[in-house]
Amino acid sequence: MGQTSIRSSLLPAEFVSLVAEQSHSTVNEVYEMFSRCARCHQDAVFPVVALEGESWLVNSDSGKKLRLAVYGLCEACAALPDIIQTVNRELFAESRTPK
Ligand SMILES: [Zn+2]
Repeated sequence: MGQTSIRSSLLPAEFVSLVAEQSHSTVNEVYEMFSRCARCHQDAVFPVVALEGESWLVNSDSGKKLRLAVYGLCEACAALPDIIQTVNRELFAESRTPK
């Protein structure tokens, strides 16, 4: 939490608004997601936007939805090999609801 450089330098306000809309969050919540490291919860320096889905086109009839995850990574964690793939796998596994 608190101020980070991510807020002003790397994320256009329009984009954050879009993410907030997509993830049913407020703009401030989206900034919070970006400003915390997904791995160790320290202040993040890199914003990450991850998508999971079979197509860029969202077809509401198919029941398939593009999943969007936003998070930050601190410098140390961002240097880990395959960190984004690892975090994405965990995030999307969590958000998937069992049938
Ligand atoms: Zn970290």
